[in-house]
Amino acid sequence: MAKAKGGVEEMVLKGKIKVPYTWYVGECASRFYVELRDNKRIFGTKCAKCNKVIVPPRSSCGKCFVPITEWVEVKDTGVVQTYTVVHYAVPGIQPLKPPYAYGIIKLDGADTGFVHVIVGADLTALKAGTRVKAVFKEERQGNMLDIQYFTPV
Ligand SMILES: [Zn+2]
Repeated sequence: MAKAKGGVEEMVLKGKIKVPYTWYVGECASRFYVELRDNKRIFGTKCAKCNKVIVPPRSSCGKCFVPITEWVEVKDTGVVQTYTVVHYAVPGIQPLKPPYAYGIIKLDGADTGFVHVIVGADLTALKAGTRVKAVFKEERQGNMLDIQYFTPV
């Protein structure tokens, strides 16, 4: 390593730059996000072969490997399947101020888990099986955070 004029070792450090970006989410996710944004409705797709309702929707079944064309509206309520409680803040990355929980929620009418945040309750009382309901943002933009969070009911 080279020495600077004062005899101090010159250092080179590695860093990362946060780069905002956009991407085309495809026809299937576009329809899902438009329904969230415009109608506060949650849709999945239903596989004609195994009859599973997948939320968020997919255009093909990951189990049967067949295209999916049927759309099914599911409820904005569901059951927590598993979760973890976040106690530490990571500014710039987390959508909410801790404490809150990340959970996998099986919405009523769906056969798959839906990952989202859970707030608004005593999180020490949260458990697998807790019933929750979606709380939508007032001003929605067409993304997953149009559902602001789920809260126990
Ligand atoms: Zn299937």
